[in-house]
Amino acid sequence: MKVSDLGEFGLIEHLKAKFSLAEVGDDTACVELADLKILLTCDTLLEGRHFLPFYPISTVGWKAVSATVSDIIANGGKPLYLLVSLLLPDVELKKVDELYEGMTKACEFYGTKIVGGNVVKAEKLGLDLFAVGQAERFVGRSSAKAGDGVFVSGTLGDSLAGLELLLMERKNYEDFELRLIERHLRPTARIDYLRHISKYANASMDISDGLASDIRHMAKRSGLRFNIFKEKLPLSKELYEFAKKHGKDPYAYALKGGEDYQLLFTHPPERMNPFLDMSQIGYVQEGEGVFVDNKPLEEYGFDHFRS
Ligand code: MG
Ligand code: MG
Ligand code: MG
Repeated sequence: MKVSDLGEFGLIEHLKAKFSLAEVGDDTACVELADLKILLTCDTLLEGRHFLPFYPISTVGWKAVSATVSDIIANGGKPLYLLVSLLLPDVELKKVDELYEGMTKACEFYGTKIVGGNVVKAEKLGLDLFAVGQAERFVGRSSAKAGDGVFVSGTLGDSLAGLELLLMERKNYEDFELRLIERHLRPTARIDYLRHISKYANASMDISDGLASDIRHMAKRSGLRFNIFKEKLPLSKELYEFAKKHGKDPYAYALKGGEDYQLLFTHPPERMNPFLDMSQIGYVQEGEGVFVDNKPLEEYGFDHFRS
């Protein structure tokens, strides 16, 4: 049997069962050290798979940090420290400098710091970031409650639209297209939600593989039924314009588009905060599965070893 026969999530289930890794389940691990709740996570970006050689390299640095701290924030933690493992071909030093410029700018933005790492010679450029954060309360994906509202931050699907535009490698882009490309290249992890998540959310995770994929994990781990409604999905006006211009369904982008790094969380509907750009997209009830407009959600998600 090959890894691709299991898929990314099948592989994780296989390893958990075979080696009794019962704690594995969220995108960060929560461990207790001297009464502190410490969150640990890692994330990888590889040239050719997650970014292409023609991308501005400083945005790759920015995105690597954002993707890594996003998981810590989603689980209610403040990101504190980062280690950077660099897979490095013999490139111009300037390129490495630009990569680190992107990373250090992001670190400043999130209030975190690179404190070490490792360099290894490789055929292709790659980055693996390990992050440490601290939480007052760990908010994982398995603790949604029946009666909760289902919420997301920001807008969904912009990053996938930006990626498709970027891959067209056109000479000229319209302004709204550049904004979508920017959202793909320089996503912002939602550190502005940290207090809200840490205080009120029953369950939370970031949306990195696409809402359709990530919400299935939350529903399954929480052992509850999630009902969401298509017309409640928050779409940006840029995505509307993109969909109109290219004859696409913007809701398909919102459901299956990955790498938005928005948050998916649940709490009682009355905890909605009007000062944050959150939208209630549905509710949680007893039962199982994810339903969109009362129909079961097809498998939309992005699974690394199968696509
Ligand atoms: Mg992952
Ligand atoms: Mg992640
Ligand atoms: Mg995640």
